[in-house]
Amino acid sequence: MENVIGTSSWMTPDLEDLRQAVRRFAEAELTPHRERFSKQQYVDRELWNKAGEMGILLADIPEQYGGSDGSFAHMSVVFEELGYAGDMSFGIHVHAIVAHYILNQGTEEQKQKYLPLLASGEMVGAIAMSEPGAGSDLKGIRTTATLDGGSYVLNGSKTFISNGYHADLIVVVAKTDPQAGAKGVSLMLVETKDCEGFRIGRILEKVGQKGQDTCELFFDNARIPKDNILGGVEGKGFAQLMTELPYERTILGVSGVAAIERALKLTIDYTRERKAFGQALIEMQNTRFVLAEIKTEATIARIFIDRCIEDMVAGRMDTVRASMAKYWISDLQCKVVDQCLQLFGGYGYMLEYPIAQMYIDARVQRIYGGANEIMKEIISRSL
Ligand SMILES: Cc1cc2nc3c(=O)[nH]c(=O)nc-3n(C[C@H](O)[C@H](O)[C@H](O)COP(=O)(O)OP(=O)(O)OC[C@H]3O[C@@H](n4cnc5c(N)ncnc54)[C@H](O)[C@@H]3O)c2cc1C
Repeated sequence: MENVIGTSSWMTPDLEDLRQAVRRFAEAELTPHRERFSKQQYVDRELWNKAGEMGILLADIPEQYGGSDGSFAHMSVVFEELGYAGDMSFGIHVHAIVAHYILNQGTEEQKQKYLPLLASGEMVGAIAMSEPGAGSDLKGIRTTATLDGGSYVLNGSKTFISNGYHADLIVVVAKTDPQAGAKGVSLMLVETKDCEGFRIGRILEKVGQKGQDTCELFFDNARIPKDNILGGVEGKGFAQLMTELPYERTILGVSGVAAIERALKLTIDYTRERKAFGQALIEMQNTRFVLAEIKTEATIARIFIDRCIEDMVAGRMDTVRASMAKYWISDLQCKVVDQCLQLFGGYGYMLEYPIAQMYIDARVQRIYGGANEIMKEIISRSL
């Protein structure tokens, strides 16, 4: 699989080595097991330890906390390679997001305790914001964390939580002061092992991404040590979410561009082979024009995301541009994959053809990480 412009400006020999290693990892550990992961609705737990051993789980976290001391470019290589492999089951994205909450918002003690465990894969991370009654409008969450002696008592339910089945550490968004609006929201670090009152509900049946364990979670008087409030202070949750969401949204852009590039490559290969009316499909003007348009859009997306990656590495990325990357690339991904599927004809609708899987996996990119309409709200505030 190749980047549509050849090589990105931010690539280095060291990143190229990492790319090859992640590619081999995907070929050995993900692709052969795709169907099984889909059926069981989660990846094998050992996969996390294997990825941890390779140092790819927290590639952009400092070595002092067990990470691989790279930058956002290193994580981008990981996300791109998973995208090129067509994998949508290994929830490394959410895991890395959790680590960033802890790195940037946690106390020194929280960083030292949790980051090495997340880096090695001994702990799997998840983030639980959404609830049955509140997704886009997070102010409407009903989960509460009430201080009682030396611990918080957590009550509420969460839904659509990625990595929910395997998660050992969940960042739970809860109200510590329900009267205080946005200032009454805090992020709680919940260790699931032996946590009384915590329960995993169903692994949800999704349209696509079936190998990813997206779950319901329940907290019924679950006790969390007082020290497990992220950053050690109540009421910072909303600000912490706003600070960290650009990381998540840029990641979605990186994965989206990889998917677009893969769809283009698969479709060029297929239309060269497939014959109709005495010629290869790619010789027909419509096919060439559609692919020419897609290549143009893929190139625009690639150049845009490369700039976003450079700015993430340099610490210059902002919320507005991350929202643009998330919304525009995920919209483009869905459009491109749909156009590509059309060029496969009936075979494009058969799951044994990767383009069919890409079609059903892509749709949710416009919804999670903040619905694209919310992204436009954020962008419009900058006008
Ligand atoms: C596969 C999957 C994985 C997920 N993983 C996680 C996870 O790990 N952790 C987590 O916390 N959540 C997760 N989510 C939840 C996801 O973030 C939410 O689904 C998303 O934020 C939308 O919230 P909602 O589903 O409640 O939709 P609603 O908030 O009910 O919105 C429905 C639709 O209404 C429209 N809309 C809403 N508000 C506005 C507005 N202000 N202006 C214009 N239009 C609007 C949009 O079109 C939106 O799609 C996941 C969801 C899925 C499907």
